Amino acid sequence: MESGLYVPDEIVTEIIGNVLERPGKVNFIFDGYPRTLNQALAFDTLLSVKKLKVDLVINFEVDTELLVERVSGRFSCASCGAVYHDVYKIPLVSGVCDKCHGNKFIRRKDDNPEVLKKRVEVYMKEIEAVRDFYRNKGLVKDIDASQAAESIQAEVKNSLVQSGFII
Ligand SMILES: [Zn+2]
Repeated sequence: MESGLYVPDEIVTEIIGNVLERPGKVNFIFDGYPRTLNQALAFDTLLSVKKLKVDLVINFEVDTELLVERVSGRFSCASCGAVYHDVYKIPLVSGVCDKCHGNKFIRRKDDNPEVLKKRVEVYMKEIEAVRDFYRNKGLVKDIDASQAAESIQAEVKNSLVQSGFII
């Protein structure tokens, strides 16, 4: 993960298989999975064994440069975990956490622009096939993720309502 690469498909599939085994759980939301066509195919097999199915795939479309800007500017309070951003959400008093008044902050190593760009390149190569796989099944809802957070949230909620998950 530190080098910006991903966990191998077999391990991911094994982890997801274990998640689907959890007793009493029949509804799941996966964030960022499956991210390769191999994972999607393995996931399909897992689901059919469990007599489960994918109901909805939400595809967040965002410009690569905007994505790098958003993610690489993130940092968080070392004490309480409050999340900030160099552009979108700076602390009210510079260097002091709004919530706990702590003054130590951390940046994730894989949030730096070089590592992130590498992640995005690997991702873009893989995700197109995954998107097409689900698009052919008529399951994909595209959302423009360059909008403000509130608009994205509203669209996600709409999709969930239309799919019958929330009323
Ligand atoms: Zn804090």
